[in-house]
Amino acid sequence: MSRSARYAVIGHPVAHSLSPRIHALFAAQLGEAIDYGRLLAPLDGFAAAVDRFVVDGGAGLNVTVPFKLDAHALCGSRVAARARRAGAVNWLAFDADGPRGDNTDGTGLVIDLQRVLGRSLAGVRVLLVGAGGAARGVLGPLLDAGPQDVQLVNRDPAKAEALAALFDGATATTFDALRDRRFDVVVNATSASLADAGLPLPPAVFVDAFAYDLMYGAEPTRFVIDARRAGAVATADGLGMLVEQAAESFRLWRGTMPETAPVRDALRASLSW
Ligand code: NDP
Repeated sequence: MSRSARYAVIGHPVAHSLSPRIHALFAAQLGEAIDYGRLLAPLDGFAAAVDRFVVDGGAGLNVTVPFKLDAHALCGSRVAARARRAGAVNWLAFDADGPRGDNTDGTGLVIDLQRVLGRSLAGVRVLLVGAGGAARGVLGPLLDAGPQDVQLVNRDPAKAEALAALFDGATATTFDALRDRRFDVVVNATSASLADAGLPLPPAVFVDAFAYDLMYGAEPTRFVIDARRAGAVATADGLGMLVEQAAESFRLWRGTMPETAPVRDALRASLSW
């Protein structure tokens, strides 16, 4: 296998990542020989782990929790505009001048929402819950899709305010202030569902809304269950976003866009939801 064909997802933890499976399915679909693995980096050893990967002939990395900000810092000025806006990098490629970074998370979410799930974002009212790495990554592409308004709410309200201040068109709000508000799309970009924790959202925000949880799993997430109970018209989890952001990563590395539907179907079947 050639030197240019080695890729991996780097994170801590990383054992749970579906990325190796997704990229293997893309490569098989397109008849490309790539080797995509998992790289567990120590919490204080991200840059050293990346260096070793490059010395060993690695061509590209996807970056997951908790290293997306470190990856952004590692690239210096060699960062694509959408990743610079997010302040976070989930895609790295290496050449003679060092690492280059991009962020495919937001593009993945918007493609899943609009092209796959058929929810146009143009002119709609969006509520984005969370202000961590994932929210940073998706906010710019969400705004680029032309919604009427994006309201940002977070457990720590200061973080929502700081994030909203970076993006024209986004406004920070509080859970209390949402009592009389209505939305067309509610996106959960918190990790609350990981702990099966509920969010203090007034049920009315879900009435007639489309509810999307970035988290995914074999069972409906707590957010999805709460949204359905409160009257959401439809719900989705983040498996589609995961596959779309991976496809965009694959395209950036290999120059060819894989078909995502068969991969999404295969993963969904194996998760059995
Ligand atoms: P971070 O750790 O950077 O941020 C976590 C966010 O969740 C913060 O806003 C935090 O609020 C909030 N939060 C955590 N626990 C709770 C809780 N119990 N109640 C309310 N808010 C809570 O994580 P990421 O942003 O990187 O990831 C968020 C989620 O998105 C994860 O579930 C991850 O799996 C998913 N994800 C999915 C992707 C996909 O492709 N489908 C891609 C990337 C992420 P506070 O600031 O107050 O602490």
